[in-house]
Amino acid sequence: MNIAILDGYVDEPACLGVPPYISPLVRYVAGGVKDSNKDFTYLTIDEYRKNSDKVKQMMGSEVLILVAGAAVPGKYLRGMPVSSKEIREISEKFDGLKISGGAKARFGLDNFEGFDYVAKKDLDASVYDFFTEKVFSNRNRTIDEWNKWSVKGAEIVKYHPDFPQPLVAEVETMRGCVRYFTGGCSFCIEPLHGKPLFRDVDDIVKEVKVLNSTGVVNFRLTQSCFFSYKAIGIGETETPTPNPDEIKKLLSGIKNAAPNLKVLHVDNANPAVISEHPVESEKIMKILVEYCTPGNVLALGMESADPAVIRANNLNATP
Ligand code: SF4
Repeated sequence: MNIAILDGYVDEPACLGVPPYISPLVRYVAGGVKDSNKDFTYLTIDEYRKNSDKVKQMMGSEVLILVAGAAVPGKYLRGMPVSSKEIREISEKFDGLKISGGAKARFGLDNFEGFDYVAKKDLDASVYDFFTEKVFSNRNRTIDEWNKWSVKGAEIVKYHPDFPQPLVAEVETMRGCVRYFTGGCSFCIEPLHGKPLFRDVDDIVKEVKVLNSTGVVNFRLTQSCFFSYKAIGIGETETPTPNPDEIKKLLSGIKNAAPNLKVLHVDNANPAVISEHPVESEKIMKILVEYCTPGNVLALGMESADPAVIRANNLNATP
């Protein structure tokens, strides 16, 4: 069976997959396909637009899996996530079985009419169930599948046009937001994942090691709040106590696993967590300076300084 994975990119609050980044989701989908003993070809939506030879190959495939993550309105400088018009066009032009998933499908942010199956939860889990059980399920991946598919699908990076440079692999440390039980910020999809789920240090390090041995040298750790990784008091408070020991284990483990890495950055930190826990946060800042590479930016997500806007949208922090 010929299976084509078309990467329509991911641009979400806690995950980026627009070039030069490659999202974890597309790698998990590849992992789910591999785990069902099938192979795949891969192309990005930009390669589709250029009508490269890969498009002919895609059109001749029996199954198309379109990864369609959420996109942020605005101007993209390089890659541009798949548009509504392109989703329609792909559905009309491709004759084989059409599957899609990612936040656009999951949260009904676009119209996937013409697709045979649309994953309402994790696309990788649906795809795996479909190829192994012939049932298109709607479920989340288990933590074991998360770790397994992140490793099995790592080889997909080799087919990305930005591989090996300047490709940056986003690597997930967690899913969800510590503010989930208050609904979180009104615009954000992260709280919809429910109670945050953390991956263990060893599993993250293993994924980085495999990606690095495949040729990836640039990494960014992605999560809703880096300072909340394995924090203490999740579910009891919106500002759990950061855990510098786990963070040190994580970053030092990554440095050891990928000694030739060129970029190690992190995404996102919750300013309220930092301001409520200055002692632990200072320790983490020092760990970041010690292990990460220059150009590292902690996105603090201070959306507005207007108290009315902050209140109306249940935002996270005040000036
Ligand atoms: S703090 Fe707000 S923006 Fe950040 S992940 Fe949580 S809900 Fe989303």
